[in-house]
Amino acid sequence: MEILFPSNIKCISCKEPIPKSNPYSLCKSCFHKIEFINDNCTRCGRKIDSHFDCLCEEDDHIFDSIYVCTRYEGLMENMIWKLKYQSSTYIAKHFAKIMSHKMDYEGLNPDILIPVPSSASRMKKRGYNQSKLLAQFLGKERNIEVIEPLRRKKDTKPLSSLGVIERRLEIKEAFFIDSKYENQDFKYKNILIIDDILTTGTTIDEMTRILKEWKKDINVSALVLSSGRI
Ligand SMILES: [Zn+2]
Ligand SMILES: [Zn+2]
Repeated sequence: MEILFPSNIKCISCKEPIPKSNPYSLCKSCFHKIEFINDNCTRCGRKIDSHFDCLCEEDDHIFDSIYVCTRYEGLMENMIWKLKYQSSTYIAKHFAKIMSHKMDYEGLNPDILIPVPSSASRMKKRGYNQSKLLAQFLGKERNIEVIEPLRRKKDTKPLSSLGVIERRLEIKEAFFIDSKYENQDFKYKNILIIDDILTTGTTIDEMTRILKEWKKDINVSALVLSSGRI
């Protein structure tokens, strides 16, 4: 009896049939269109060039360190758009594998994952929060709990369209600690914030500020799927 390619699946980007063993369920051609970032500056997220130091001393961040998996352009930009706006939520599972490999590479071992929260109105419109999906798949993959102690107060304008000062003003007070968590026993020391796209780091900074005001002696780092800041 003929078996109809039981081990073949489709590339998550171009839908070409591929062997099941392909990394991140991508065909070879699509895989090579992604710029994976192995070493990044943990202060600003920019890719490190082995010959030059990163010139980001003037970047004043509150988070302890940041890790970036891929460059936000071309195929990655397109797939993240599908994940965010076309309900292609299955992509999150494969993206979480990319993030998991970065955790291995960097030796990250957080106690807890916290996704960047969506506002209530965005959740209503979209029905899901892509950063939460990434965190959930990653948490499952690595057996780490995902919690959401932060909530978003207001819709913020797209930060990438604003200057540094406007960005800080726009995001300030955008988050607060959910009353469910306020008096809860919180035993976690190493927190990893999960986000899909890094633009300026302002959102992660503001989340870190609120978390560190809430709990002393915590380490807050971030793992971001893709960055335009390179
Ligand atoms: Zn493909
Ligand atoms: Zn840097």
